[in-house]
This record gives sequence, structure tokens and C-alpha cells, in this order.
Amino acid sequence: MSAPDDPRFEWIECPTASGPTEWVRGACNHLVPVEVRGTVDGELLAYLCTDCDHQLPANQKGIPS
Ligand SMILES: [Zn+2]
Repeated sequence: MSAPDDPRFEWIECPTASGPTEWVRGACNHLVPVEVRGTVDGELLAYLCTDCDHQLPANQKGIPS
């Protein structure tokens, strides 16, 4: 059995004594963060990952603005 086909998360293989290997969801990759902007001036304040509800800093590297 291979890892679940869900690139949003890291997957950790957990072999079991009996039965198939289990895959436990690990760290979130924050693939599709949404912009959080100020209601007044529209300034980019942060990003929010809707997969894990984790807020990311607006200057996070690797995320296209
Ligand atoms: Zn996330």
C-alpha cells in the first residue's frame, strides 16, 4: 500500500503487526494559503492555510504574492 494521494500533507508510514500499513497524516505543506488582507487599506497581513487553519506570515518565502 502506498501513501495516500494527498499532496497537501506529509504522510508517515506506520507498519502494523497485523494487517496493512497505516499512513498517518503528518505536517501540512500549506499548498493553498489564502490571503488575509486588512479591511481598510487592503494591505496584505498574512496568509491562512485552509487545510490546517494555520496562519502564515505575509512575507513567507515560497508563496507567490
Ligand atoms: Zn497548512
